This record gives sequence, structure tokens and C-alpha cells, in this order.
Amino acid sequence: MRILTLLLVLLASVELSARSPNFVVIFCDDLGYGDLGCFGNPTIATPRLDQMAEEGQKWTQFYVADPVCTPSRAALLTGRYPIRNGMTSAARVVFFPDSAGGLPSSEITIAEVLKQKDYATAAVGKWHLGHLPQHLPIEQGFDSYWGIPYSNDMDKVKGTQNYRQGAEDPYFYPDTNHYDVPLMDGAEIIERPADQNTITHRFTMKAVEYIKENADRPFFLYLAHSLPHIPLFASERFRGKSKRGLYGDVLEEIDWGVGEILDTIRAEGIESDTIVVFTTDNGPWLAFKTHGGSAGPLRAGKGTTFEGGQRVPTIFWGPGHVTPGTVSEMGSTLDLLPTFAALAGAQAPNDRKMDGYDLSGVLEGTGASPRDSFHYWTRAKLHAVRSGPWKLHVQQREPINYGRVAPMNGPELYNLETDISEAYDVADAHPEIVSRLMKMLKAHEADTADSLPDQLAARIE
Ligand code: MG
Repeated sequence: MRILTLLLVLLASVELSARSPNFVVIFCDDLGYGDLGCFGNPTIATPRLDQMAEEGQKWTQFYVADPVCTPSRAALLTGRYPIRNGMTSAARVVFFPDSAGGLPSSEITIAEVLKQKDYATAAVGKWHLGHLPQHLPIEQGFDSYWGIPYSNDMDKVKGTQNYRQGAEDPYFYPDTNHYDVPLMDGAEIIERPADQNTITHRFTMKAVEYIKENADRPFFLYLAHSLPHIPLFASERFRGKSKRGLYGDVLEEIDWGVGEILDTIRAEGIESDTIVVFTTDNGPWLAFKTHGGSAGPLRAGKGTTFEGGQRVPTIFWGPGHVTPGTVSEMGSTLDLLPTFAALAGAQAPNDRKMDGYDLSGVLEGTGASPRDSFHYWTRAKLHAVRSGPWKLHVQQREPINYGRVAPMNGPELYNLETDISEAYDVADAHPEIVSRLMKMLKAHEADTADSLPDQLAARIE
């Protein structure tokens, strides 16, 4: 009995002295489900991501909360469907350089949650949650910010080449001077136009530097690459190297960067205390042909609520916390906030409606995913719901030109376990499932009726 007590005391003290884990989120832009070697791509070489998946968890049914940039990012950082914080809009699809809005300061980000536990926090890369001073990362719980405030194709210089004309050619190389995108350090513009040829390299180096500087304390690093969103840029070393053309060059540089980050974490000896998540904000931009990615077996891509728009290639890595394997249960970027809060011993917001689940049991190999359903929103409209294997669509956008609503003859039902490509509508055969999922849609619509007003519509006067 005495020995048992001693053991328990010992275990408890080990538990108490365990350091809160560091979190690194590497977030790509417009990366497709089928673009990584470990997700089946035959021509893009991603050895470091493949190794990361081998050593960690590859999630095959992981979702972003919206198929375009701004709302998807808002959802990741707040753990709430973007309709709740007014970050999806029927008026404007994302923020633009003339947008006046941003993520409301009343929203609580992962960085703010982790500040309860004195985490160091940094945002590197693309923000896209409001570019005016009051909306920047340093106003949303991040100690520092180094990156571009919106998409890399914005601030197009008038009279320069139209990207669409050459985009189907894998060797067409855009000119970085055609996009007057600013590079910012905190609230200050330090370079304009940002040299996008070296941007993946520089974002990676900033991340590496940050990890080294903060290795002795818990930190949260949000590294949001601005690529492979078009226009595509890769540095000299990667240009013209991939069999997949320029898109492949871009991905292979990102893969190199992931390797640099994992190597740094190991060199600093903090691999047992660090969890790295690799994913993307939405699916591939198919309108740009070979300059866009591939959704693999999934239907459609960016801008749509088909699986190709919202199911994203996702890897969790962390030798001290993540049990290696492939996870085919559901997860979402909505779940990162509650998962990180649980692992850090911080309190997730409890004064508002939250949409995420704590996935730490799946990461640690002790439990199943608590997520069994998912709602598909875009442009402030609820398009579909998934429950277990079943997905019911009530609205759709066109697969390539997602700017247009697609006509439907009625609700469509797909079984995603047997029909990953959403090819066979089985609504007629399963009226009881249609009616159950229809009730779920209605209930979710009612539950989101008290959402914040649209933050995307307002323009700078
Ligand atoms: Mg995107």
C-alpha cells in the first residue's frame, strides 16, 4: 500500500512537472487533398511531409470550416464557425485591400487562450483577418507578426499581365512586381511589393529563428504560408525542379521548409514537448488549371462545399504526444482551439457558442474522435451537413467557377465512406436519412441565428 501511494505521488509530480507543449501550426493556402506524396501524389516530391506523416498522424477526414481564405482562418483561430463571428458574407467572399473590417476584437483566438498560460505567441505569414492596424495579429493575442496582411494576388498593379492568360502553362512564371502586396513587421510596412520569389524561404527562416529564440518556454507559432495560392513563386533553388511544374516547385519548397522546422525542433531538444500541425485553409483553385492543385479523389475544389473544397490534407506530429498512425475519423481546424487548450491546461472560452472538440485523446492514442458531424458553410449560407458517413447538400456552387451558384433539383445525399467522390446521389433511396439530416441543418441554422453581423461587407470610405 505504501509503495502504491509513493508511486501515485511520484506519478502526480511527473504530471505536474510536465511542460506545457509548444504548438506550431503550418497552414498552407489553397493546397489540394491530392498534392502530397503521403496523400497519393505521384509527381510532387514531399519527403519531409511524408516522413512527418510516418512519424505522426495522417488525418484523412479533416475539415476546414469554409472553402475560402478569410472565413477558414477565422474558424481555425477561434474554434467557431465563421457565421458566428460575422466572418463569412453573402456580400464579399473574403477581405480585400479596401476592406474596413477584421476579426472582431471580442473574438478569442488560440493565441489569447494560450496567454492564460503565459505562452509566447507569434504569427508569421499571411493573415487575411483584417489589414487595418486595429485588426492585425498583434491586436489578437500575438506578441509579434511578420508577414503579408492579405492574399498574394491582391493589390494587382494596373496594366500588368493578366495571370489567367498563362496560368495553364506549368512554366509560366508570374512577376512579383505585378502585385503591390506589403510585407509587414507588426503594424509597420517593411517592404512593398513583397518579394514573393523568396517569401516561402523567408517565412520558414522567421519560424526557425522564432523556435530557437523561444525553445526554453511554451510557445505558439502560427505559420501561414501565402502559397501555393496563385500567383506561384519559388526561390531559385526550387524553380524548374519539380516534374509537376511551377506548382510542384512551390510545394517542394514548402516541404523543405517543414523539414527545416522539424529539424530545428529536434536540434533544440524540444521534440517531446512540441506538437506540429500541417494543413491548409481550403482546397485547390481549379480554375487555374496546372497552377492550381489537385483534390485527388475528392469532388471539386476551393470555393465549393464539396469535399474537394473543405476536406484537407492534415498531419499532426509530436513524438511526445502524438501516437503514430492514420486517423480516418473526423476532425476539423475548429477543433484546434479546444485541443490546444486541453493540452496546455488552459480554459477554452465558455461565455459563447463554440464549435470545436478536444481531439487530444485521438492524438495521444487513448480515445476516439468526439466529432461525428460537420456543417458546411460558405458565403454566409449553410450548404450541407455531414453526420457519420452521410452528407446532405441543400445548396451548391459550381465546381470550377465557384462564383456561381449551381442549380439543384432537390437535396442530394452521399455516403462518403462508400463514395468518397460524391458521385452517386442516393437521396431517393434513403428518405429517413434525408429527413434526419434536414432536421440537423434546421437546428444548426436556428442555433446560429444570434451570430455577429457581417464583418466582410464594409469598405474603407
Ligand atoms: Mg485559400
